[in-house]
Parts: sequence; structure tokens; C-alpha cells
Amino acid sequence: MSEIIKAPRGTRDILPAESWKWEYVINTAAEVMKDFGFAQIMLPMFEHTELFSRGVGETTDIVEKEMYTFTDRGDRSITLRPEATAGVMRAALENNLCAQGAFAKLWSWGAMFRYERPQKGRYRQFYQIDAECLGIENPEADVEIIDLSIELFRRLGLKNLEVVINSVGCENCRKIYRDKLYEYFSAHKSELCESCLARLERNPLRILDCKNPECGKIADGAPDIYDSLDDDCREHFEKVRAGLERLGFKYRIDKRLVRGLDYYTKTAYEILSGDLGAQNAVAGGGRYDNLANAVGSSVKIPGVGFACGLDRVVLVMEEQACSFGKIPEPEIYVVADDEESRKHAQILTHKLRNAGVHVECDISGRSFKNQIRNASGCKLACIVKDGKFEIRSKDDSGVGIVSKILEREREKFVDIKNVLAQKSTGFVDKALEILEHERDHVTNIKNVLEKKRAGDYSDGIVKLDNLDEAFDYLSANL
Ligand code: AMP
Repeated sequence: MSEIIKAPRGTRDILPAESWKWEYVINTAAEVMKDFGFAQIMLPMFEHTELFSRGVGETTDIVEKEMYTFTDRGDRSITLRPEATAGVMRAALENNLCAQGAFAKLWSWGAMFRYERPQKGRYRQFYQIDAECLGIENPEADVEIIDLSIELFRRLGLKNLEVVINSVGCENCRKIYRDKLYEYFSAHKSELCESCLARLERNPLRILDCKNPECGKIADGAPDIYDSLDDDCREHFEKVRAGLERLGFKYRIDKRLVRGLDYYTKTAYEILSGDLGAQNAVAGGGRYDNLANAVGSSVKIPGVGFACGLDRVVLVMEEQACSFGKIPEPEIYVVADDEESRKHAQILTHKLRNAGVHVECDISGRSFKNQIRNASGCKLACIVKDGKFEIRSKDDSGVGIVSKILEREREKFVDIKNVLAQKSTGFVDKALEILEHERDHVTNIKNVLEKKRAGDYSDGIVKLDNLDEAFDYLSANL
């Protein structure tokens, strides 16, 4: 027998038990984007390879080792997008979104593809929420992007996050800095890992974010980028910091934060989670004033943006027991007793759904008993029998009241226990008497509660004579 074909390594299915949580995160992101004035853009999942090799940078890990590149049937080199920014910039240029000094605030979400070693929070197909502000050079745009990403996480209820920022300067500053780094790391060649030796020749800046602890120690003593920043880049960074402080944000400066993509200029930042292990970045971004030119624009279009890892956000939210809103549950379950009643149930369900009500009705031919069992999770059940409609509700408020009484009784038990603890014989007899009485009381309450939990709909039965009456009643009461 042939084996079931499995999903490729590094990919996974987001099943219904989880997908509703993703929907919540995406919907929350859409609300935050709206509040910040960002409009959604939907982009192709594949682009010409050149967009990424020129945009992201030939010497980056992404372009060197991680892209899913193939030749299509028309003999073109195509790449599944490893990130969104280059595609957003391409779309803006192609559609003249930033012509004559106009600016564009755009957001998007979707799958990205990188050939990386899969581990917790790292996949080969993963999802990002992405926001880009194009056409503005002002540091206030950087502050708005950082504010936007923090606000997204605040609304999602994420805790234990750290904002880390740095400035990587402009091209001119980086040239100077690169030479300084080359000189410094060349003197430590024998201590660097193999990858860093290659980085030294191609892009020494990348040694700064090597995860190898030995390289890290050497990088700690590397020249400081601030000594290479020109006045404009220094002033930009100061303004970004002042803006963040004005908004009351705490952040840490990490001079080794260079990020893995070549297009960054000036601001680079990341948001780290204390609950993710090695892959601890939930979002990263920064400014990219040269990207437009790198992908062929003759005019300068500055930009700043961020991408947040959706897979990791959901992981952290689960670990931190954050709320994902309400699990989608039917408001009413329509139960039918026999063949004729099933037809009524079908029409009623159709009409209620037309009216925008979340309704469940058995379509698999289950027995009446099984339908009732399924309905027990629902607050309302509509039982169709002999052409009549019976609406039964679970009285949740009743459950609440009983729970409260139960709590009160529990306190009484504590009192009785205290009396007993006094060990006076008269008191003991009295206390035992009360105790017996209260125990019966509590057992009764417990029974009521258990019946309710098991789906007893005996409260609030409403009997209706035909389908129209049932529909009118339900649409008025849901
Ligand atoms: P980057 O485009 O590398 O700056 O990544 C931005 C964000 O995307 C990161 O902070 C992660 O949250 C997420 N991310 C990047 N690569 C992966 C991956 N392979 N699997 C899951 N999430 C990722």
C-alpha cells in the first residue's frame, strides 16, 4: 500500500482548532492598521528573482542560502517571496503610488518562504503581518511604525516584550564603518567561525549578528557604529529616540543589531519575546531609504516598515494564555425528530442563516438523541417535532446564582469546621447537626448544577406552532 503523502518539511497545516486564533490576530491587526491609517495591499507570492537579489542584497543569508528559486516554463527565474518589503516597494513603483512626493501607508499579510532549518518558531513557509510607510524621510515615520508594532502587541495582550533599536547609518556611514570593521575583524581572523570568515570579505557587518558565542565575544569589542555616523544619521536616530520617549516607550539600544537584510539604513529595530527560546524575535523592521533605487527607481523613495511573525505571535499568545476572543460557537442548534421535521429544520436553519445567525443543524442523519447531545453545548436549542417548534434555553443566569449560593455554603462549612475545632461537646453536637443539614442543601445545589452542565434545557421552554412563528421568535430573541 502506498503511504499517505505528508506536507513538506518546515510547512504545516493550520487546522480549525487553531485557525480561529489566527483569524483573531489578523482581524486585530486589520483594526490597528485602520486606526493608524494603513491600507491593505495584496501582493503576488512570487516575484522575479532579481527583485530580491538586488533589493534584499546578494550577500545576505536570505539571498545566498534561503530562497526558493526556480525557472518557470517561460525560462524566467522566479522566487517565492522570502519577505514582503521588496514586493511592496516594487508594487509602489510599478503603480506610481509615490509619484510627485506622494506617500503611501500600506499593510499586508501572507505566507513567506525561506529554506531554513526548521525548529520551534521557525518554518520554511511562515506568515508575516507587514506594514510599510513609503515616501517619508522624516523620523516621525519611524516612530509611527514602531508605535504601530507595539500597539498591535498591546492589543493582542502580549507581555514580556523588549524593544531593541539601533542605527545602521546611511550608505556613506556604512562604508566608513565597514572599513573599520574589516580592519578590526581581520586582526581576529583565527578566532572567527567559518561563516564569519566568508562574511569578513563580503559583508563584515553581518559578523555582528553571528550567533556563535566565540564570534559574539569578539564582536563585543568591535568599533562602535556611532563613531561612524554622520550628523544627519545621528540627528535622525536622536529624533527617533526622543519620539519613542515622548510616547513613553522603553527600549534598549543594541549596537550589534544590524538585521539580516542589506536594505536597512538608519533605524533598525526588533521586538523580542522572553517566551520564545532561540527564535525570540516577534517583529523586526527599520528604514530602507535606498531600496527603491536598488530595485531600479531613478527617484529616491524613502521608506520604513516592519514585519511581524504571525506563527510566533500565536505561539507566544498561547504560552502567555492571552485571549483570542470567543471561540466561534453556534447561537442555536436546530434538532429534528423525524424525516418530516428535518425538512422544517432545514428551512428554519436556512432562514436564520440568511438573517446572519450562526446556526447548527444536523446534516449527517444522526439520531434524535445524538442531535440533542450535540446541541447541549449551545445556549438555545430548537426542537422540531410533529410540525411544532419548541425553543429551549439553558438558563445561564440560574447557573450563576446557584454557583454563588454554593460558594456561600462553602463558607458556612468553614464556620462549622471552626466550631468543631473548639472541641466543646455541646458545640460539636450542634455543629454536626447543622453540617448534616447543609450537606443535603449543597448536594441538591450540586445536582442542579450538574444537570445544567449536562445540557438540561428545562428552563424557559417556548412552544411555537409553526415555522414562521419560530423564525420570528428566534430572530427577535437572538
Ligand atoms: P525578518 O524578515 O527576518 O526581519 O523577519 C521578521 C519577523 O518574521 C521575525 O521577527 C519573525 O517573527 C518572523 N520570521 C522570520 N523568519 C521566520 C521563519 N523562518 N519562521 C517563522 N517566523 C519567521
